[in-house]
Amino acid sequence: MSTETRFTERSAKPLNGRIAVITGASSGIGEASAEHLAALGATVAVLARRADRLDELVARIDKDGGTALAIAADVTDAAAVQAAADRIDAELGGADLLFNNAGVMLPAPIEERRTDQWQQQIDLNITGLMNVIGAFVPQLVKAAGERGVADLINTASIAAQNIFPNFAVYSGTKAYVTHLSRHLRVELGPKNIRVAAIEPGIVGTELQDHVTDDGALNWLEGSKETMDWLTPQDIARTIGFIATLPPRVNLQQVTIMPTGQTS
Ligand code: NDP
Repeated sequence: MSTETRFTERSAKPLNGRIAVITGASSGIGEASAEHLAALGATVAVLARRADRLDELVARIDKDGGTALAIAADVTDAAAVQAAADRIDAELGGADLLFNNAGVMLPAPIEERRTDQWQQQIDLNITGLMNVIGAFVPQLVKAAGERGVADLINTASIAAQNIFPNFAVYSGTKAYVTHLSRHLRVELGPKNIRVAAIEPGIVGTELQDHVTDDGALNWLEGSKETMDWLTPQDIARTIGFIATLPPRVNLQQVTIMPTGQTS
């Protein structure tokens, strides 16, 4: 392939020149989205705690002709997230696309008082999400000011809208994500930052592996009989779609469900 052909192919990629940060990138939705955004031409910085999984992901993206940087970080640790943001600023010139996606789902009846699991969900789904927003919004504002567009995409859930018995704490954290996103859109939209919340129904990932509640596990297992769960790639394609729309278009809230899922 000639250099000219290669250049034309590279420049044909819609996210060429964009710098994307993806949290929760060591598995599931984040991992698939990192691969997809890289395939669309973005340079991707991938964050999660498991360094080995991130290294494997970066190697795969490199092999497929993309560019990726792995940063092992616990997003509940504000200083670690800020250090990651500083490194991305120094090495990649700052982010213009943030997929704020790390999260955990631990359903249980409220009367069981699993305060450890309540805290874990609040720490990651709310405090972790805010640590990431706090560390990266300055980079998004700068990029949007210079280039006319930046993206902040937060992962909420259908649980932000619908009622699922025993999912109260998880659903509460996800309602927070959706409502926060609406507010941030009003604040950041005038600065050319598009803010979106994505609300998936059931996606087959490691999310279900952390569930300890028998009732929820039975419900999840049973649901496989009545529907085809979404795949992480289904969400990744949607994230790619949001990010490749013209800068004037902010797809604010996306609910994406398995066709067979009724609530
Ligand atoms: P996974 O469990 O596969 O992914 C969760 C990711 O979050 C992992 O990469 C994990 O990596 C990372 N993570 C967990 N804790 C931390 C932490 N303290 N610091 C940094 N990273 C952390 O699940 P999904 O891909 O399904 O989940 C992604 C998002 O999608 C979540 O916000 C979830 O609530 C949401 N969602 C998922 C649905 C589903 O049915 N799967 C439906 C609706 C929403 P590591 O352990 O290496 O840190």
